[in-house]
Amino acid sequence: MQATIKIMIDMADGTDILKALNEEMDRPCTFMHICGTHEAAIAHAGLRSILPDGLKIVMGPGCPVCITPQGEIDAAIDLAEKGCIIATYGDLIRVPGSKGSLEDYGKKDVRVVQGVHKAVEIAEKTDREVVFISIGFETTAPTVAATILQEPPKNFSILSCHRFVPPAMKFLLEQGEANLDGFLLPGHVCVVAGYEEYEQFPVPQVVGGFEPEDILLGLYMLVKQVNEGRAEVENAYPRAVSREGNPKAMKMIYEVFETCDVEWRGFPVIPQSGLRLKDKYAAYDAQKKFGIEIKHVEKNSACICDQVLRGVADPTDCKLFGKVCTPRNPVGPCMVSHEGACKIWALYNQKKY
Ligand code: SF4
Repeated sequence: MQATIKIMIDMADGTDILKALNEEMDRPCTFMHICGTHEAAIAHAGLRSILPDGLKIVMGPGCPVCITPQGEIDAAIDLAEKGCIIATYGDLIRVPGSKGSLEDYGKKDVRVVQGVHKAVEIAEKTDREVVFISIGFETTAPTVAATILQEPPKNFSILSCHRFVPPAMKFLLEQGEANLDGFLLPGHVCVVAGYEEYEQFPVPQVVGGFEPEDILLGLYMLVKQVNEGRAEVENAYPRAVSREGNPKAMKMIYEVFETCDVEWRGFPVIPQSGLRLKDKYAAYDAQKKFGIEIKHVEKNSACICDQVLRGVADPTDCKLFGKVCTPRNPVGPCMVSHEGACKIWALYNQKKY
């Protein structure tokens, strides 16, 4: 096992990244990643067990299912109650709102789909109204925008629950609650959006890939920036990410959507962090079409997903973790989603620091 890890973490030029990281560490550092795939990759490879003492990596609001607030789940249920066929991703239907989950309303016709194209296919085969609950970051929004531009059937619409990552980072930095030394930036998001926008933040940031050696290299580059007093955006994932990203995809997003202020689970309303359809595409906006309001819902359980998503608590800090709340019987969204920190920690038996 050790030999396998050693091979994986050797850089192409023969430098041992883990050794270099250990040598570079001379003060405690806490970095946040904002990507469920990063959390899964870290847990799957057991990276936390080999990191130098004092180096902590916490998960932020990087799981699109987890950050969808109760008010948006309630709005989806309202749409189901109005007789719409609801189509969305499998994880989302199990996330509880204040009135239960979409799964509880399965009888009202809630369907699991792999993507927006499958929801359109359903609409093409029925006269009923079909609403796609459209979640995700910069990664999924271009596909949805492309679908709207292709003018799907008039009985199709979306409930847009999309969000952009940088405004949440801005909030976290301004609030300072998690005492972060920097960010491992989400590689998938940066493939689409690039990383120029992150240059506004005065902290070390490195775009990270998803292999164990990518993540270790990103952490090494972050620690090096801290030690050298630099606050730059560097790219440890150049085989997939460029500074400008995919301008065509971003153009498509802005052709169909405009930014808006929205609440995230665990966060208050974050200015300009959400995406809503432009007036030109109002016919595909389920909120307008069916007069649905998204309301704030006060948290009413012992679940601390809100703190986990802000990087100020680990899943194991939750008194429900592994007892009342398990992958089989999840209480909060972080235990529901495959990209949720609680589910990943439960499946990979991650230990607290
Ligand atoms: S263990 Fe369950 S209840 Fe606790 S924070 Fe995670 S999802 Fe919420």
